[in-house]
Amino acid sequence: MIKKNLQQLKDRIDKAASKVGRNPMNVKLVAVSKRFPVHSIIEAHQHNQVHFGENYIQEVQDKSPDIPKEAMIHFIGHLQSNKAKAAATHCDMIETVDRLKLGKALNKHLVTLEKTIDILIQVNIGEDPQKAGVAANQAEDLLVQLNQLTNLRVCGLMTMPPQEENPEQSRPHFRNLRQLAQKLQDKHLFKVEKPELSMGMSADFEIAIEEGATIIRVGTAIFGARQK
Ligand SMILES: *Cc1c(COP(=O)(O)O)cnc(C)c1O
Repeated sequence: MIKKNLQQLKDRIDKAASKVGRNPMNVKLVAVSKRFPVHSIIEAHQHNQVHFGENYIQEVQDKSPDIPKEAMIHFIGHLQSNKAKAAATHCDMIETVDRLKLGKALNKHLVTLEKTIDILIQVNIGEDPQKAGVAANQAEDLLVQLNQLTNLRVCGLMTMPPQEENPEQSRPHFRNLRQLAQKLQDKHLFKVEKPELSMGMSADFEIAIEEGATIIRVGTAIFGARQK
């Protein structure tokens, strides 16, 4: 089932990208494996899936010994500063940095580990009180401060818009994130040539791709419904 779902997903990614004249190679699929057993990761990896998303540090630690070495783990959940060491140890990208304190905690451990890590700034683009993320008008200040930290490479922005019934309602939020990234890029604040935009999940990734997503985070459409 995972194989077939991945294939169908690739077709949908191709279609959404070509609809707006984008190269589908520029859309990275992160398979969100939270609350699925590690054998689901292994199975998806056998079908050439490389990037995986996890939300809970404890779960990452538990799965870590069995995760294939070439798999890249994206941390996409809320991260407490006191879990920064485990995140720095086990993850390849942290997508949810939304405050300086967390950046400093990560950097401290990364210096000790002699490791540099790619991060994204999580932006609460829809000003949803239920969602984490820095406010859009604070993102630049945070980015400037995070850029001072030696072992973090700020590669772009990530967002989770407010949950809506109709995925089309996510579009203005995705567009706003892209425009924010563009504004920061125009000031040469990212340490990469082209900033990453992590946005879009199972319900709305096609719209996110149309609006410029370079990373989409898809769980249910690959692994099925998660247990509550
Ligand atoms: C769970 C989760 C996803 C994936 O959601 P699906 O609806 O299963 O595709 C994406 N991003 C974040 C931050 C998540 O927590």
